[in-house]
Amino acid sequence: MKKKFIVTIDTEGDDLWTTKITRNGLKEITTENAKNLERFQNLCEKYGFVPVYLTNYEMALAQPFVEMARYALKNRRAEIGMHMHAWNSPPIEHLPYNPRGTHTYIGEYSRRLQWEKMKYLTRLLEDTFQTPITSHRSGRWWFDEFTLKCLKKLGYVVDCSMTPYISWADTIGNRQYGVDYSKDRYHGEYMLSMKNIHKQGHSGVYEVPPTILKRYVLKFPKLQKTTEWFRPNGSNLKEMLWIKDKIKKSEKYGYLQFMLHSSELTPGTNPTFKYRNSIEKLYLDLEILFEAVSADFVGTGITDYVKERVGSNAEGL
Ligand SMILES: [Zn+2]
Repeated sequence: MKKKFIVTIDTEGDDLWTTKITRNGLKEITTENAKNLERFQNLCEKYGFVPVYLTNYEMALAQPFVEMARYALKNRRAEIGMHMHAWNSPPIEHLPYNPRGTHTYIGEYSRRLQWEKMKYLTRLLEDTFQTPITSHRSGRWWFDEFTLKCLKKLGYVVDCSMTPYISWADTIGNRQYGVDYSKDRYHGEYMLSMKNIHKQGHSGVYEVPPTILKRYVLKFPKLQKTTEWFRPNGSNLKEMLWIKDKIKKSEKYGYLQFMLHSSELTPGTNPTFKYRNSIEKLYLDLEILFEAVSADFVGTGITDYVKERVGSNAEGL
């Protein structure tokens, strides 16, 4: 039987690699990239893949995306999940400005506010897209036991915020630093523990992390370990094909997960694909990649993946 392929898109406003928080409040966040997502949706449909649009606040209000996604949802050709950029997701309360800080992690707000923000965005997405919201990826890869508690209470089935082998402990939010996942290994999906998010447990919520593998490469005169992420960066098609083969062959893994930001599909709204040419090259790579993937994998949404994987047990989630 073919393994599963999960496509996740962090669906968010333009150019959020530079901070929008200023001493005088938030700069305007534009959503030009919402107009260009149909091309990606069509590419996925060509290969029978079901993109999971992990959607944040401003994109839940971006009509071109909302209309496209509603249509795709009707035919079960897409899934909408939640992706929160806590700094501009209502209810808004600003933390004291830090000139050295960047976008605030959700974990920097009070628990009351974290819960209110999670609840608000979940309801907004449910109302906007008329679909249950059961999958989640935190903004800036933040995840902790309180996030998990909120997800469980709101009826989520699956999270994909944790990046095995990668640490965000040097990446500042407002004042705090990000989560360190460097000791976490990639071994596919597992049920999270309420007490320690780095451990397996019985919370009822599954972690289905993005596919990230360690690889040995010869950098003369010795072998070096590199971290390979199934996420296009403009020059890693070969590495992504290597990951695809590795996941296909190994009995340890049940799925392959792709990741990209919606703003990386529009020229200039991201730092990696700046020009029209870079977007065309990205789509050429994606054609090659998706065709190769479709020979060995079959597309699924992330919630459906968990439900199929755990079978009847998932009903009680
Ligand atoms: Zn994001």
